[in-house]
Amino acid sequence: MNEADSENIAATFRRRGYSVTDDIKKADAVVVNTCTVRQRAEDKAISQIGRLRLWKENKPEGKLFVVGCAAQKLGTKYLKSRFPFINEVVGARAIEHFEDALEAQYGPAEAAIEASHRNLFRSPQTAYVTIMRGCSLKCSYCIVPAVRGPASFIPATEILEDARAKLAAGAKELVLLGQTVNSWRRDGATFSELLREVLRLPGLGRLRFMSPHPLYFDEDFTALLAREKKLARHLHLPVQSGSDRILKAMRRGYSRAQYLDLLARLRAAAPDLAVSTDFIVGYPGETEADSRDTLSLVKEGRFSLAYCFKYSPRTDKPGMKASIGEAEMEARLEKLLAAVRENSRVVLNERIGKIEKVLFETETYGRASGNFAVRVKAGGIPGKISAVLVDGAEKNTLNGKLI
Ligand code: SF4
Repeated sequence: MNEADSENIAATFRRRGYSVTDDIKKADAVVVNTCTVRQRAEDKAISQIGRLRLWKENKPEGKLFVVGCAAQKLGTKYLKSRFPFINEVVGARAIEHFEDALEAQYGPAEAAIEASHRNLFRSPQTAYVTIMRGCSLKCSYCIVPAVRGPASFIPATEILEDARAKLAAGAKELVLLGQTVNSWRRDGATFSELLREVLRLPGLGRLRFMSPHPLYFDEDFTALLAREKKLARHLHLPVQSGSDRILKAMRRGYSRAQYLDLLARLRAAAPDLAVSTDFIVGYPGETEADSRDTLSLVKEGRFSLAYCFKYSPRTDKPGMKASIGEAEMEARLEKLLAAVRENSRVVLNERIGKIEKVLFETETYGRASGNFAVRVKAGGIPGKISAVLVDGAEKNTLNGKLI
């Protein structure tokens, strides 16, 4: 979400004739897009802003914008009193209206210059399309609903217009974004109906979405997944824990068996579906047995990849301290990471001998529909989807030949 917001912010600057630089000394304006999903992210944002004091001293006419979730949570008053050199604070809930902050600093844009389509984070072939903001669930550890507010869904017409513009500018792959992206519903239309509309757009080679929540998949979606080959054969489906006790404490809304049952239904529709996930290690009250349940789920879920995070206590949730020490937390994380690595190796090796449809980013590198990184010796055409016969796998990458 933050990457997509950063790209949209960059586009508002480009429309005024600015370009993006990686060299802070050259920058006339700096935008710090903050995250507060973990306490550490918030702390990092604060120290990043602190470091910009020097830039501002050397360039007093430079403009500093602080935006996003930590900006929302900490508020303009606090941030401006602690860092008086900030020019504008734009919280996550107002981020679509970033242009207003630009106007406040630079006045109205004289003549909008057409923004060039250059992604800051993904390759030029891939573009993000935000379809919803906020979240109406109440996972115990999560600050998103408090910071970003309840779920609000962008109308289909706006989504399609954004998607069309990005395809016209050269994107081949779209990634629909939202905190619980598959909960999208608007004006009587469902998420699957929206997917169908997007899939019909000319120029689209592949469609992804991130991150779905297990609660919102229905039969209509599985039927669509089975039929629509442009729908990526990959889902990032956060599970967080393999223990029913912990899932309940986290208020995730599903049990381990329900999650596995969902995976089975999705894989029945798309047998080559790759699934990645997220785990939180050391949630308050997690016992040795709970952590073993998580380890066993890695294998049972056949995840291609998993992002594993140590539970991070927040200063704003004082009642939710981890119940294990740092050494035990570290040990559980290490075990989990080893299990994930081993499992990813198995999943990758299963792809050897198979044909993958690869969207090339360079002549030698691209991404398969299952989101695996794929390398070939030569011959890939950036922006084109080509078939590759996989003949090897190493670390997180498949190797192969164009066919
Ligand atoms: S579904 Fe995701 S964003 Fe919503 S409360 Fe749970 S963890 Fe947070």
